[in-house]
Parts: sequence; structure tokens; C-alpha cells
Amino acid sequence: MRDNAGLPAKPLSPMTDRYAVIGNPIAHSKSPLIHGLFAQATGQDLEYTAIEGPLDGFADAVRAFIAAGGRGMNVTLPFKLQAFEIATDPMESARLAGAVNALKFEGDRVLAQNFDGLGLVNDIQRNLGMPLKGKRVLICGAGGATRGAILPIAQQNPALLAVANRSADKAHQLRTDFAAHTTLQTGGYAELAGERFDVVINATSTGLSQDALPLPEGVFAPGALAYELVYGKGLTPFLKQARAAGVAQLVDGVGMLVEQAAEAFEWWRGVRPDTRPVIQRLTVPLV
Ligand code: NAP
Repeated sequence: MRDNAGLPAKPLSPMTDRYAVIGNPIAHSKSPLIHGLFAQATGQDLEYTAIEGPLDGFADAVRAFIAAGGRGMNVTLPFKLQAFEIATDPMESARLAGAVNALKFEGDRVLAQNFDGLGLVNDIQRNLGMPLKGKRVLICGAGGATRGAILPIAQQNPALLAVANRSADKAHQLRTDFAAHTTLQTGGYAELAGERFDVVINATSTGLSQDALPLPEGVFAPGALAYELVYGKGLTPFLKQARAAGVAQLVDGVGMLVEQAAEAFEWWRGVRPDTRPVIQRLTVPLV
């Protein structure tokens, strides 16, 4: 028998701690596999399952999981904002993003974090060997993923952090929202004309819809890194654009996914799992 993590099912003892990822839909989630591999590698006694939360019953589903002994949850679409609302103790990462991707249950307290941005930064700096300090960094998109990424990137002291979005107003709103923490350059894609960036991150959902972004020519500096947040889709239109512009370092978001999972695992269990073998296992070639 195999469980939904694709790992051999193991008998649960009454001491086994329970974790889950909640989303809707959820069948596609790699989180049970990732956390199952982390638990195996670190010898942690835990069960990690996937829960399809009802669209109109997220808070009830979380309460039911807590009542059944749940210790923590990852939260994915479309519940990241609702998870923020039920948190009693949102950490800074969650407060600034206004969204949550990890919960920890302690008595009556619901602690909340957003590890997406930190996962992205860890992947770029540790795994891909590209320090962000002093770099010109561009994030395309102004949705939840960008909100989560701004502070962790700004904390690395890039020379410039720019956010471009189809709806420029949404990008400008981020400049206002983060003004106390960092100075963002914001606008639409056309305003990027004549600018070059060392790191270009696609945090739009165009990797799923197959639309191309209207990036001006010359936006990728020589030696640039092109980072697509969507993962497992091969060469997305953004990565094809980057390749056509001569970018050699093309990556998708599988490393970010595994790194944010590692942050949550350490937060819950106090043990840091090795991410590299898990990233390797989940990587789909970019062809
Ligand atoms: P979101 O809040 O829905 O934001 C979507 C963004 O995409 C918005 O900025 C939107 O622009 C832009 N967009 C959508 N269609 C577009 C188009 N045709 N042309 C130009 N821009 C377009 O989504 P999100 O939560 O930020 O997530 C963004 C992507 O990151 C998702 O695909 C998600 O799968 C991925 N992600 C990956 C990880 C990971 O671990 N690797 C983690 C989080 C998210 P407008 O504002 O103009 O509509």
C-alpha cells in the first residue's frame, strides 16, 4: 500500500504527530511527498497528508484538524488570505505578505508564517549560488507571491528592487505598503525600457496560462538569472523569452517550493532537513 505522498505507508503510533497541507484543489500538491521525504531523512515520527478544504469552510476544516490532534499545516491556494484571518499570532513574514503558508498550533494559539519569500531567497542564494547583495533585481507580478518575496529579497541589500506588473497600480500599491521597510521601483512593463537586471523573477501566473510578458528588449543583463516561480512545466514562455535573450541560467520554482517546505519543517520540528536530494528528485528538465 502507498499513501498519498507516494511513499510506502507506515503504521501510525498514537505518538505520531499530524501535519497536513490544505488547499482546493489539492491532488496536485507535492507537499506530502516533500515532507514525507524530510521525515524519513531526519527520522521524525510524523504523518503528513493532503486535505481538500471546502471553499466555504476553511476555518472549520482547520478547527477539525486541530481537534483531531493536528500540530501544523501548510496552506495553499485559495486559502492563504483566510489563513491570515484565523491566525492569533501572525509573524512578521505573514503580516507583511497579508497571507500565510504555514500554521503551527499551540494550545489555543494559531501561529502563522509565510515562508514563500524566504524559500525563494534561499534557493537563489544557497542552491544557485547567486548572492542578491548589490544586484539589480526585478520581480514581474504584484500578487501574493510577490508580496511574500519583497521583504526577504530587500533584506539581502540588492542595489535595486523593482516590481513590474500588468496593472501598474497594483505594483505602485506595493511601494506604498512596503515604504516603511524598503524602497521599491514600481510600474508597468513598458517603463522597464532601457533598464537591465541581474535577477529577473517571474512571479506572475503566466507559466500556467502560457502567456508571454511584454518585457522590453535588453531587460536581462549579461550573466543574468531568470527565475520562473511556476514549477514542473518545463520551458514556460518567460523562460523561453529569457533563453532567446541569451540567458544561460534558467530555473523554475521547484527549489523555492522545497526550501519553503524546509523552513516550515524546521519551524515545526526543530530539525533542518537537507533539501538538495528532494529538489533533485522533483526537478523536471527544462525542455
Ligand atoms: P496571484 O496573486 O494570483 O497574482 C498573479 C499575478 O500574475 C498578478 O500580478 C497578475 O497581474 C499576473 N498575471 C496573470 N496573468 C497575466 C498575464 N496574462 N499577463 C501579465 N501578468 C499576468 O498569484 P500568486 O499567488 O502571486 O502566484 C503567482 C505564481 O507563482 C503562481 O503561478 C504560483 O503557482 C506561483 N508560486 C510558486 C511558488 C513556489 O513555491 N514555487 C510559491 C508561490 C507561488 P495583474 O495584477 O495585472 O492581474
